[in-house]
Amino acid sequence: MDVLAKAYELLSKYPLCDHCLGRQFASLGYSMENNVRGAALKVSLTMQANDLAAAEKEIEGIKQLKVLAVNGFSIIAQETLKRLKKRLPKQTDIVCHLCEGKFELISSLIEKTQTVLKDYEFTTFLVGIELPTAVEEREDEFKATQNIQHGESIRHEFGRVLGKALAKATDKEAEYIKPDVVAIINPFEGNVRLQINPLFVGGRYRKLVRTIPQSEWFCSCRGRGCPKCSGTGKLYSESVEAYTSKPLLEVAEGVESFFHASGREDIDVRMLGTGRPFIVEISKPKRRSVDLKQVEATVNAVAVGKVEVSELHFASKDAVRHLKKGEGAQKEYRLLAEFEKDLTVEGLRLIEQTLSGVLIKQQTPLRVVHRRADIVRERYIYKLEVKKVTLKRALLLIRCQGGLYVKELVSGDEGRTVPNVSALLDNPAKTLKLDVLNVIME
Ligand SMILES: [Zn+2]
Ligand SMILES: [Zn+2]
Repeated sequence: MDVLAKAYELLSKYPLCDHCLGRQFASLGYSMENNVRGAALKVSLTMQANDLAAAEKEIEGIKQLKVLAVNGFSIIAQETLKRLKKRLPKQTDIVCHLCEGKFELISSLIEKTQTVLKDYEFTTFLVGIELPTAVEEREDEFKATQNIQHGESIRHEFGRVLGKALAKATDKEAEYIKPDVVAIINPFEGNVRLQINPLFVGGRYRKLVRTIPQSEWFCSCRGRGCPKCSGTGKLYSESVEAYTSKPLLEVAEGVESFFHASGREDIDVRMLGTGRPFIVEISKPKRRSVDLKQVEATVNAVAVGKVEVSELHFASKDAVRHLKKGEGAQKEYRLLAEFEKDLTVEGLRLIEQTLSGVLIKQQTPLRVVHRRADIVRERYIYKLEVKKVTLKRALLLIRCQGGLYVKELVSGDEGRTVPNVSALLDNPAKTLKLDVLNVIME
């Protein structure tokens, strides 16, 4: 292919700015932007035409200079025509066939983008491009009819050029996988939309009391407030979720918070040991460089004696997925059981032996079956140890697969959990107190 001849052929048919002419040859020559390619082609074509005009082919040379001056918007061609004392073609309102002159708006689009971004703290960004369908269809048709071999798409060029310009203007980095913010720019409408990605903060919590639920429980009035909830919209005034999320939401100046945890314990169950892993997700945060040590101190001061957090760290969406998968991780429980009849030493040895290294078949407990599918699940117990406390009470230490309903392991849940402590001893038992001692993540 004769690159110059091809460039001239395109300009003789369509008005094209430097960006849009250069883009048709985008994969030729490295380390330059398309407008540099386009300008270079126009300069070379002007020199060639000038040479023709000065020699025997004056008419052809002048014709080419006029094409460059009009369809190529070339100042150099216009000045050359003036020097040759040729009339300049009348300047009408010709615009670039492909971009309609929108590449000239780069700096004003960047200014607009900076204005909408000014309230948000971010270190990485991504530029997305929105284009009218007609613009892309017009370019597709152009490429097909003009047999363009080395071109790039207008969307791709806008994305790269605006991305580079925004990086320079903000001194921030473009990031394709997990940007803090995405600026969706429409060069044709001249508008910018923002997508602010959430902030994720992970940690572990301990719950030291038997009166607080893990997550916020909204009242049947759906949070509007009614007599049943004394106008608060919530069934419990406190929760692990509220204690951990509120201070974070406040300092990050976000819109909403979401609490994710690796499994949950009942309200009357304490979460001890090193605590349970959780992640708080803050939507549309304005601040990201949050002092997590400070947040940790705030939570632990406000919730003192009730909830304790530790190891606060910045996390990601992937970490939430990993956390949910980790619900199957091992758990350690300590359970105080009360029996109807007196306990025997042989009986306690029997349940230690039978319930260590065993697979438990468990049908969804009666107490939750109204809100969960009624299915049979299998969960493994690695080890169960028993210590007699009084004649009718014993302490059970259980290390098992996550997801085992331990209260039902003791009661048997009317035969829905097999095997179970009550049936093995022929001595009905119930749980008085339950603590989670450890959540072991892989
Ligand atoms: Zn253009
Ligand atoms: Zn209510």
